Amino acid sequence: SLPTIFVITPTYVRLVQKAELTRLSQTFLHVPQLHWIVVEDSLHKTPLVTNFLMKSGLTYTHLHVPTAKERKLQEGDPSWLKPRGVEQRNEGLRWLREDRRTQPGEDSHQGVVYFADDDNTYSLQLFEEMRSTQRVSVWPVGLVGGMKFESPVVEGGKVVRFHTGWRPSRPFPMDMAGFAVSLKLVLANPDACFDGEAPMGFLESSLLKGLVTIDELEPKADNCTKVLVWHTRTEKPKMKREEALQVQGLGSDPAVEI
Ligand code: UDP
Ligand code: MN
Repeated sequence: SLPTIFVITPTYVRLVQKAELTRLSQTFLHVPQLHWIVVEDSLHKTPLVTNFLMKSGLTYTHLHVPTAKERKLQEGDPSWLKPRGVEQRNEGLRWLREDRRTQPGEDSHQGVVYFADDDNTYSLQLFEEMRSTQRVSVWPVGLVGGMKFESPVVEGGKVVRFHTGWRPSRPFPMDMAGFAVSLKLVLANPDACFDGEAPMGFLESSLLKGLVTIDELEPKADNCTKVLVWHTRTEKPKMKREEALQVQGLGSDPAVEI
């Protein structure tokens, strides 16, 4: 049977949340044997995400963990100051290790783990590429790091360096969207996780350096020559008119979920 792809997605409350989750879930509906692990950055599971997942038609697990206050970006902080979604991805890993430990059978250790932010754009082909991951597979990511794309550079079927605009000396200078890890490797290294204290740009490295070396990386997407995922970012919607109308008591009905 096809190895299951476990997709871990951190998400948080904001105006565009349901739109992002809709886009993402409707991509995932086209992927066979996918298990979506949605981790809300919140003290409680929200009704919006709970109802959304229930109606999604996907196989999913709904988790939540709030980002510690001192780790949360404050209004006005530059977006690169602190990594986002760290505790949530780690909670996804924790659940996965616990759940698999208690599942009987060989098959329960067969699978692939992918970290999918809720705002990126994913080609269906990407999931077919990652499904054969033995340890850690890698591929290009479009529109990231101030570049058209970042990518591992492959020579003779091996990753030999990285095409990146910034600090190529990082252990693994790759975006979160640019790799997948086999479930076996995740289970064999029970302490491997993301380090929220890692300096900017080192979050991906903090997980990967506990799991593989560069020469073990498995290049996908035609030896890393095809872009199948894009680090898109959604503009924050302007609420100028909404706020003006609210003053007159004519704001949009708060009972309508958006
Ligand atoms: N995220 C979160 N809590 C936050 C901010 C972001 O859980 O306070 C999630 C977000 O939904 C996304 C991931 O963390 O799935 C990465 O965040 P974002 O897309 O804002 O980061 P960037 O695009 O800058 O890498
Ligand atoms: Mn993003």
